[in-house]
Amino acid sequence: LNLMRCSECKEEAIIKIPYAHKYLCKEHFIQWFENRVERTVRKYNMLEGTRKLAIAVSGGKDSTTLLHVMTKIAEKEGIEIIGITIDLGIDMGKKYSAKSVEFAIKNYEMLGVKYRIVKLKEEYGFTIDEAKVKIRRPVCSTCGLTKRYILEKVAKEESADTLATGHNLNDVAQYVLTGYYNGDILSLARLRPVSPAENGYIKKIKPLFLSPEKEIMTYALVKGIPFIYDSCPHTFRVGGETQDKIRRTIEEMEDKIPGFMISLVTNFEEKFRPLIEDIPKETLGKCKICGMPTNKGREICSFCATRMKLTEVKVNS
Ligand code: SF4
Ligand code: ZN
Ligand code: ZN
Repeated sequence: LNLMRCSECKEEAIIKIPYAHKYLCKEHFIQWFENRVERTVRKYNMLEGTRKLAIAVSGGKDSTTLLHVMTKIAEKEGIEIIGITIDLGIDMGKKYSAKSVEFAIKNYEMLGVKYRIVKLKEEYGFTIDEAKVKIRRPVCSTCGLTKRYILEKVAKEESADTLATGHNLNDVAQYVLTGYYNGDILSLARLRPVSPAENGYIKKIKPLFLSPEKEIMTYALVKGIPFIYDSCPHTFRVGGETQDKIRRTIEEMEDKIPGFMISLVTNFEEKFRPLIEDIPKETLGKCKICGMPTNKGREICSFCATRMKLTEVKVNS
């Protein structure tokens, strides 16, 4: 039996952290993980000026973990919290959205956090399953657009000044390499741990920016956080298979070169992104239908345009 001992206390270890040359027991791992998130929040001044924080919770491991850790941090800082969950209407015979929402609610109630559930079908007249059939674009692109729009809108309605999302280190590493691969300088310039409030958008933060997926999964499991295991039945992602291959390759690189993802992401953030920070950003207009920010030269935002296609009724709210 290959029993490993915690590098801090000699108890039985539950996880190996190769890039830090450590083995950690349950208690020291929890401390390690929470410290990492807290240090990330401090390092990038994520909560500077924040009074009310909205947290996007899908019910998956990343967002439920985010909710648990940020609730603790916000309490210490005297910051109010509101959870936002969208029922996207993804069913496909698997009740995916219904189950996800249930998991989100379990966490809100466990923590005593205030929350809002937005039912896409009831409030906006369509589901993501319907969008998949009726709209030519890849379903994940419509879904992403919908989530960004609703989170922004509801966070503002709840008078939150900051919105936190559960993007983890593996996600960010994947965006960095995909951005280089596609030569997509605009996406790279926008890929930040903190996007300040500007152009009518509220401040967005990614507190799990430097937290590897494996550690998030381990944290959720050892803390007994309820989350949905199933992955979305609309399996393919924006950009097709290439992005998935890039992600798997990055994870293989991490196995071969421990610390690869952290170096890739922190070097991007500290050395390269400042060089492209000043590329001109498009000026924004206001959507004629909903008043939310829209790209220059467009009268109607992409969400309202999509919604009109899907609901056939004239949208005028
Ligand atoms: Fe939406 Fe695609 Fe994610 Fe499913 S996999 S939740 S459709 S973005
Ligand atoms: Zn220990
Ligand atoms: Zn609009």
